[in-house]
Amino acid sequence: MEGGSRSPCPLDMDFSTQIAALLSPPSAESVKDYYDELIAIRKCPGLKINFNNDSGKAVFSVKEFEEGELVLKDPVLVAAQHTTNKVDCLVCSHCFRFIGSVELQIGRKLILQDLGLTDDNEKVCTMASHNVGTDSLFDRKDDTSTSTYQNLKKNYISGEVLESLVGGKLSLPFSSIFSLPSVFDCPGGCKEEHYCSKSCADSDWEFVHSILCTGRNKESSQRDAMLKFIEHANSTNDIFILAAKVISFVILRFKKLKQLCLKKNEKCTKLVGIDFPLLLEAWKPVSMGFKKRWWDCIALPDDVDASDEQSFRMQIRDLAYTSLLLLKKSIFEDECAPCILGNFDLVVASPIEDYFIYIDELPSPDKEEAEKLTRPFLESLGDEYSVCCQGTGFYPIQSCMNHSCLPNAKAFKRDEDKDGQAVIIAVRPILEGEEITISYIDEDLPYEERQALLADYGFKCMCPRCVEEKRKA
Ligand SMILES: [Zn+2]
Ligand SMILES: [Zn+2]
Ligand SMILES: [Zn+2]
Repeated sequence: MEGGSRSPCPLDMDFSTQIAALLSPPSAESVKDYYDELIAIRKCPGLKINFNNDSGKAVFSVKEFEEGELVLKDPVLVAAQHTTNKVDCLVCSHCFRFIGSVELQIGRKLILQDLGLTDDNEKVCTMASHNVGTDSLFDRKDDTSTSTYQNLKKNYISGEVLESLVGGKLSLPFSSIFSLPSVFDCPGGCKEEHYCSKSCADSDWEFVHSILCTGRNKESSQRDAMLKFIEHANSTNDIFILAAKVISFVILRFKKLKQLCLKKNEKCTKLVGIDFPLLLEAWKPVSMGFKKRWWDCIALPDDVDASDEQSFRMQIRDLAYTSLLLLKKSIFEDECAPCILGNFDLVVASPIEDYFIYIDELPSPDKEEAEKLTRPFLESLGDEYSVCCQGTGFYPIQSCMNHSCLPNAKAFKRDEDKDGQAVIIAVRPILEGEEITISYIDEDLPYEERQALLADYGFKCMCPRCVEEKRKA
């Protein structure tokens, strides 16, 4: 699908050889070396990654797995929380675990939610839907508690109460059981990113954020440009934020490699021409997951006619170019073209749900006593009282797992998995030498719907189940 109208980006012309080198598939040998090392680092010796130029990468087991056994924990290479999700969840920008306290999570969300709620009608509406959404939580309630519940629905929580909740002056009963790591602010002072620890703050700064930070260390013109870039991404597609993070990841890796190289060769003057090989090396973790350029593989939306495909793709490409221009203004680097990676959803369960379930399951009279305090907050939170942290991330090993509509493994967060790592569990016994597959979509959907969703990933599924169902149709 390459070709058609010319790219709006002059870099595509000026650096066509370099870009082609960056986007060309890595050699089988370098893929093998890269993943052998990664599997050793990840301590998942039950796996191996096979690669060939026709079918791409696949993950195979080198040992048997029992049903329910952990297959892999895969930390994310680069990830971003969805912009809209930032209202609901305060999480560490590096490892994506929930931070602060139950009180801070609830209070912050209610304050932000209130800012968006305009009148009482809407409030009632939210409450009504809440009634349905948390039925399971209250299915043991008797008549009296139902009436209290009804009364409390009219309750408003004052701004003052919310502030003391956020400020730590008001604590909710039993919340210490669900204690969360305290909040560390961005060392660059941007107030946009928060962390669970100094080590997460430092790692994020070192690997990604130092380039994108809008804090006090940035020159004001650069900061304004960065804010414009972020605004454009938020109003069009927040995947550009992830792309920007990938770009800074590569630039920072490149700078580190170069420094290392200069140190090693202090007395050597023949360092001309090292930049591009170093850039290729810095880009390597990304190139391993690179599939296609985004505009070449994004699925055609329903309302776009097939005959308009070319122009649709060009529009998307121009959008990406606009975003890149905005980003370039703020970081003055021009190495990278936006691309698509094997992205997966990043999901971390909220501790707020566990908290309210815990309160609901307390024995009497502790439960009634606790609910006097907690129920108004639950009411105000509405049916979305425990939204997960949601985003997009690039998981180096998970992204090598192929899709099947009859998978033998799945991404599944256990109770102890409280951060943004991908956790893959066997859903049935897996034999030694079997390919490990996961489903990229809801595999319970009918054939046609599955195929439509999989088009977004750029392939037509030919798994045994699809073959069988197509034959029967
Ligand atoms: Zn963290
Ligand atoms: Zn910052
Ligand atoms: Zn299939």
